[in-house]
Amino acid sequence: MAYSNHNYPVALAPEAVFASTPGEPMSSGDRIVLIDDDRVVGEIVSALAKAMGLQCDVTRTPEDFFGRIGSDTSLILLDLVMPEMDGIEILRLLGERNCRARIVLMSGINIRVIETAKKLAQSLGLCVVGHLQKPFPITQLQELLGANVAPEKPAYPQNEQRIAIPDEDLRRAFDHDQFVIYYQPQINIATGIVTGVEALSRWEHPELGLIFPDNFIHRIEALGLMDRFCWITAERALNEVKQFSASNSHLPRLAINISVSSLRDLKFPDILVNLARKYDFPAERIVLEITESGLMEFSLALDVLTRLRMRNFQLSIDDFGTGYSMMKQLQNVPAIELKIDKTFVRHMHDHHADLVMVEKIIEMGHELEMEVIAEGVETEEQYRILREKGCDGVQGFLFSRALPPIEIVRWLESHRAQQVQ
Ligand code: C2E
Ligand code: CA
Ligand code: CA
Repeated sequence: MAYSNHNYPVALAPEAVFASTPGEPMSSGDRIVLIDDDRVVGEIVSALAKAMGLQCDVTRTPEDFFGRIGSDTSLILLDLVMPEMDGIEILRLLGERNCRARIVLMSGINIRVIETAKKLAQSLGLCVVGHLQKPFPITQLQELLGANVAPEKPAYPQNEQRIAIPDEDLRRAFDHDQFVIYYQPQINIATGIVTGVEALSRWEHPELGLIFPDNFIHRIEALGLMDRFCWITAERALNEVKQFSASNSHLPRLAINISVSSLRDLKFPDILVNLARKYDFPAERIVLEITESGLMEFSLALDVLTRLRMRNFQLSIDDFGTGYSMMKQLQNVPAIELKIDKTFVRHMHDHHADLVMVEKIIEMGHELEMEVIAEGVETEEQYRILREKGCDGVQGFLFSRALPPIEIVRWLESHRAQQVQ
């Protein structure tokens, strides 16, 4: 479908010149105009822009888009592929109007197509300052918008410094049974009741002491040992939690972190079924946590996830917000839970953009009928905010760190005793 000037009421004359000279920083009075048929993209972009003190008009049709474009438009976010219109045609019309706003092209299509569109836009005299290939990480969008306002973006501390451990040690760890599991409670916000525990692996190195997973999981993956590791930890966790429940009247849900590489094995659901049977552990009490970025990588093989759901295992999307979240795919994932990544929780009380992300994730999770859990809750204030925003569950140092089996049993008992009082 082609769009000519008379197809819709265009608010500006063809010769109109848009604001913002390329290269000049945007001021908060400038406007962003977005056109994208994906409502969720629109919501996220506008929420983030608002949180960064920018004005953003979200549009889904060319009529609306050209109606909003004005002399104060300094940044345009343009989805190239939309069902009822053609981003290329919009570029052509913007070219005709001597648009000088900066343009960011967005698309889920092949990067080469974006590159071609970029060249075309340049040949029309338009100023393309970047592209976002969907699904794109929210951090990339934040950076892109942030580049246009005061550079106040906090650098989130990523993993603590990694220590180098020889691969030989790691191989030996398997043979000498050096991996152990610590458990962190998950708590329902409304009732205060423990709903589950997350199994977090640790390595008891004979010389170096306790080593945290960020130091070895990626090496296990690189050495091709992840499947073996996955089944060792799953079996140990099922066994141990089943034992807690002997001294606990009811079995907490057990959340296990699953690397997406393990899910490539089509036999995964059946092996898990057998393991759950072996320990008489009901499938519906087992939650498999899969990271958001892993899921998106994995999006072509949803059949394993679906089969897991059909066998009653629960799926949770971990580290939500940090990965490739542009979220259309999310609707297809049969998950029951979203976990807000702790990087958003950490600063939400004093960093408005993070608070907005938390709100949006809760809203989106609920819209998709998922429960939303926040991880990394360390302070009463964070807890209060999450409760106010309608978050369903929390996990974090405010309640307890991950604890070895004996200690988690004690913790669970004393928490229950407090609940009863
Ligand atoms: P994750 O799944 O996002 O787990 C949450 C991490 O946050 C854990 O780190 C936990 O100890 C930590 N944490 C919990 N509450 C708080 C808090 O209030 N504040 C802060 N700052 N941190 C908190 P941990 O145990 O070091 O695990 C790191 C990552 O390693 C996990 O991130 C998970 O992705 C991975 N991992 C752990 N165990 C396994 C496993 O058995 N298999 C696989 N595939 N991955 C695992
Ligand atoms: Ca997790
Ligand atoms: Ca996380």
